[in-house]
Amino acid sequence: MPKDIRYLKGVGEKRAELFAKKGIKTVEDLLYYFPRSHEDRTEKKDIADCVEGETVCVSITVFSPVRETRVRRNMLISTMIVSDESGVLNVVWYNNRYVKNQFKTGDKYVLYGKVTKNRGKLEMVNPVCEQEGKERFTGKIVPLYPLTSGLTQKILQSTMELAIKEVGRMEEYIPSDIREKYHIAELNFAMKNIHFPENFESYNIARERFVFEELLVLQLALSGRKDINTSQDGIVFEDINCVREFTDNLPFSLTNAQKKTLNEILKDCKSGKMMNRLVQGDVGSGKTAVAAAAIYTAVKNGHQAAMMAPTEILATQHAETLAEFFKGTGITVVMLTGSMRAAEKRRAYDLIATGIADVVVGTHAIIQDAVEFYDLAFVVADEQHRFGVEQRAKLAAKGNNPHMLIMSATPIPRTLALILYGDLDISVIDELPPGRKPVKTYAVGESMRKRIFAFLQKNVSAGMQAYVVCPLIEETETSDLQNAEMLAEKLQAIFPEFKIGLMHGKMKAKLKEEVMDEFVRGEINILVSTTVIEVGVNVPNANIMVIENAERFGLSQLHQLRGRVGRGNAQAFCILFAHGKNEVTKKRMETMCISNDGFYISEQDLKLRGPGDFFGTRQHGLPEMRIANLFEDRDILAMSQEAAKKIMAEDRHLESEKYSGLRKRAESIISDDIVMN
Ligand code: ADP
Ligand code: MG
Repeated sequence: MPKDIRYLKGVGEKRAELFAKKGIKTVEDLLYYFPRSHEDRTEKKDIADCVEGETVCVSITVFSPVRETRVRRNMLISTMIVSDESGVLNVVWYNNRYVKNQFKTGDKYVLYGKVTKNRGKLEMVNPVCEQEGKERFTGKIVPLYPLTSGLTQKILQSTMELAIKEVGRMEEYIPSDIREKYHIAELNFAMKNIHFPENFESYNIARERFVFEELLVLQLALSGRKDINTSQDGIVFEDINCVREFTDNLPFSLTNAQKKTLNEILKDCKSGKMMNRLVQGDVGSGKTAVAAAAIYTAVKNGHQAAMMAPTEILATQHAETLAEFFKGTGITVVMLTGSMRAAEKRRAYDLIATGIADVVVGTHAIIQDAVEFYDLAFVVADEQHRFGVEQRAKLAAKGNNPHMLIMSATPIPRTLALILYGDLDISVIDELPPGRKPVKTYAVGESMRKRIFAFLQKNVSAGMQAYVVCPLIEETETSDLQNAEMLAEKLQAIFPEFKIGLMHGKMKAKLKEEVMDEFVRGEINILVSTTVIEVGVNVPNANIMVIENAERFGLSQLHQLRGRVGRGNAQAFCILFAHGKNEVTKKRMETMCISNDGFYISEQDLKLRGPGDFFGTRQHGLPEMRIANLFEDRDILAMSQEAAKKIMAEDRHLESEKYSGLRKRAESIISDDIVMN
């Protein structure tokens, strides 16, 4: 039975609540709250050997107790003189009223702190003080935890010290054959050493175990939404050369990357095996054109095709795009969405069932029970529709194992693609059509705000539209972050001649769609929003993207947002308001300013992240990494991948006793974090 965290001494109702905010409810949860780093407090020195600037432990006797001096009205200095056999040292605290009665002459303590010099005398300011013989956080390697409001380092350390006593009894859930094969440390050993390591070597061994565990569990969890069998028989497209009729009539010629991808798709469709392919390509790389060519081929081979979009707006846009592509080809495109009236739906069902509809474009409504296809052979879906086993079965039942093409506008590095899409074949469109102007990107500070507003004024007056994006703000945060609602009001006051729109996550879906529609129609000039702007929505007239508190966004998210502009002929601009002097922030902004290439940016993104700082992983449907860094730990990733495959081959649903522990962990991250489509 998992032990409630309140079982630990010192954790009452209130503290338990603070822990709960971090998702920590049980002692085990707490143990999995890993330190962000460690402090080496093993070095002990005699006072005489202490050198200014170093941080060490000293064992001392109190020579003269604390004396308080009030320097100014709000400045209290407390000093104590301590000594060992080699010398004396001053201990100093500022504005600490509590130390006064804590020490008696002759008491023995171990201090840990930075040695400084003040008027020629050695000094330690605000050291860690522990009674000799009762040392807990001196003389050893001490964990430092990511802090959260209300929980200090001290609280976390001492609560963890209590929790670690549970260790020794934890049940190992990585079977020993796997641990032996990959040299993975045992759970109890690793748990003790990830928090309170004997030395840094043990720490590294412990860390490796948890990285392996995290990646293994993640992959086992993800495999639940992967297809069981990707080598099923598929419909054969006899004539794939007819695609020429389509591509020859396009107003442009396909880029090499598009041609290569299209060939890969068509080869699959002729192979006799069912296709399961992911096409990755930046926004604007021409994925839709490739999909349209494949759909054309499906239809000309006598079949039906479907295209699924995550929202109604996108479905409408796709339907329009396809209708335009297929003008004069005799191909009939039919829409099907949830919001259509019953009569309209019934009509659509008829067209689909009789085969009059060659291509069906719509939302999830397409895979509802009432929809019957005449001969569905090819399905194009957005990344967000990664089908689980169940949907897959539903879809297969509507056709005869239709070929599946999944499109993703999120370029991701190979390591990540392998985790997420290990079961799919992947095509990459890593080239933009010629003549595209990269979005001009500038990272600016607050001092530039006036100029940026003037720039907005000028361009919007000239008929352009702009997005202004703010980060989502948690209620607990009290800072000077831009809040979408307030910013919209402010902008409306600054630009009374423009219509400012507002869109945020708390609005009802219907209202959001209305606002988006108004923006698409050009009635709204400036749209202020949190990141809910529809991915994929095309508003060619919007050519300015302003991102507030850009330091809050991950690189791939910034790139995705920027992808909303630059879809028309005019030069597009992206303005990043970034605050703070954080090095990583600086590098991120720099990367954005120098590159428009999604693959390059996502590589940089992976490099710049630290463990646990996996902001933006959710966008890929991944839970937050606690310890693994997908870039630095790619060797362990490869091992865990191999192990996951082996386990799945042996026991696909992890039903055996041997894997029951792993199954539980995999299930827990699914229910917590991974949205199953
Ligand atoms: P994606 O779906 O990858 O974001 P689209 O397929 O919507 O990109 O293409 C973006 C725009 O570029 C569309 O207007 C499309 O017609 C056009 N386009 C696609 N391929 C080419 C090409 N090879 N040359 C010129 N324009 C292209
Ligand atoms: Mg598109």
